[in-house]
Amino acid sequence: MGYETILFDIDDTLLDFKAAEEQALSWLLQEMGIEPTLSVKNEYKKMNQGFWREHEAGVLSRQELLDNRFRLFFAQYDHEVDGPKTEAQYRRYLNQGYQLMDDSLEVVAKLSQKKELYVVTNGVSATQHQRLTKSGLAPYFKKLFISEEMGVHKPMKEFFDIVFAEIPHLKKEKTVIVGDSLTSDIQGGQTAGIDTIWMNPQEKEATTIKPTFQIGKLTDLYQILEEF
Ligand SMILES: [Mg+2]
Repeated sequence: MGYETILFDIDDTLLDFKAAEEQALSWLLQEMGIEPTLSVKNEYKKMNQGFWREHEAGVLSRQELLDNRFRLFFAQYDHEVDGPKTEAQYRRYLNQGYQLMDDSLEVVAKLSQKKELYVVTNGVSATQHQRLTKSGLAPYFKKLFISEEMGVHKPMKEFFDIVFAEIPHLKKEKTVIVGDSLTSDIQGGQTAGIDTIWMNPQEKEATTIKPTFQIGKLTDLYQILEEF
């Protein structure tokens, strides 16, 4: 313990990605003249999840999925749309989402007074810069490590090698990563040889990947990081 350096994941740790997805979907539906009711949105989610299962099963490539999901979905409502163009529009809407997770701004502001905070995120550089700036989180971080700029991503050891090399005087035993994903944040932290804090508000069961700590909300960090 006695952590000095905190590496933060962004999506579903500090920013609410699910809320951003909800909003982007609503905007897209409205643009198509379809009322974004719960049942329409659920219909889309069901269809989308089905496509991702086909992708996982190797039936559908990621590109095919992204190029066709909205075309097939809107066809059900007798709307003929260009799949890739609609996907691009959805992504533009998604990139505009920067809804904060509960307490995230306060927690980050407070921690930044005593700890060195860094962002470690898998994502598109322009998008993540924009969302961190608009949400007000950006000034509290010494540096942002974004996979697209680095050419490697979490949980790769190479991602963390770059992070450690670029943080001055970093001590691994005094460094911890906070994130919601067992497979990228927690696995990545373990491979890199640092402690891990799993953001797990739904109290999911840990798999074979065991974090050092678990939290249900960001304010739980005060206790783990002490001195607050
Ligand atoms: Mg995340």
